[in-house]
Amino acid sequence: MKKIIVAIDGYSSSGKSTMARDLARRIGYVYVDSGAMYRAVTLYALRHGMVVDGHLDIDALVKDLPEIGISFRAAGDDGVQHTLLNGEDVEKEIRTMEVSGMVSPVAAVPEVRHRLTELQRGFGRDRGIVMDGRDIGTTVFPDAELKVFVDASAEVRAHRRVKELLEKGEITDYESVLANIRERDRIDTTRKESPLKKAEDAVVLDNDRMTIPQQMDWLMEKFAERTKNN
Ligand code: C5P
Repeated sequence: MKKIIVAIDGYSSSGKSTMARDLARRIGYVYVDSGAMYRAVTLYALRHGMVVDGHLDIDALVKDLPEIGISFRAAGDDGVQHTLLNGEDVEKEIRTMEVSGMVSPVAAVPEVRHRLTELQRGFGRDRGIVMDGRDIGTTVFPDAELKVFVDASAEVRAHRRVKELLEKGEITDYESVLANIRERDRIDTTRKESPLKKAEDAVVLDNDRMTIPQQMDWLMEKFAERTKNN
């Protein structure tokens, strides 16, 4: 069967990564979390003193871009794919609130987007990939055969994120998580370069009202539709 590209875009903490990962596992495709790549660049900026009082030194970051290597290590015993920053496993560090608080300004830098888009296209060269993010169906793979746009209210997403962070042992409160989600939505949808928006040919999944098994059934149905004539 000819392999396709599945692009899953949507707002922060809309559950799209879990969905994309599960789908890839079921259909035997490679999964790429493009948000993890923006997070890894953000961690690099934080570690190299490029963020002072919440202000990003864009010139310094752009200058260092060729030094920033991002790759993935296939899922191990924990079933989670790990993100590597210049060969170092940073999967845990990129999920902290500190990184979440700076990632949208980093992702708004055009040079960062160009570099990561190029890498992402490389991962999809042979198709057979599920990638989730904000601009996968609009910019990275405008020719993706299946595009999904995941929608969910900011409140539902914040509750989900608090639960996720607590499970990882990070203590946080609902109000600050909600504020972070709203701020990321604002920056992601209003930036000049590849803002978050639904691709015209994307199908919408409103996951406020769907359980995870229902979402998976829905996705598998869409995947079967798009591959039936291959
Ligand atoms: O998906 P996740 O929430 O981990 O992504 C972190 C941030 O990376 C987003 O808030 C967004 O600013 C940025 N991002 C992006 N384009 C993508 C994926 C993520 O701008 N394709």
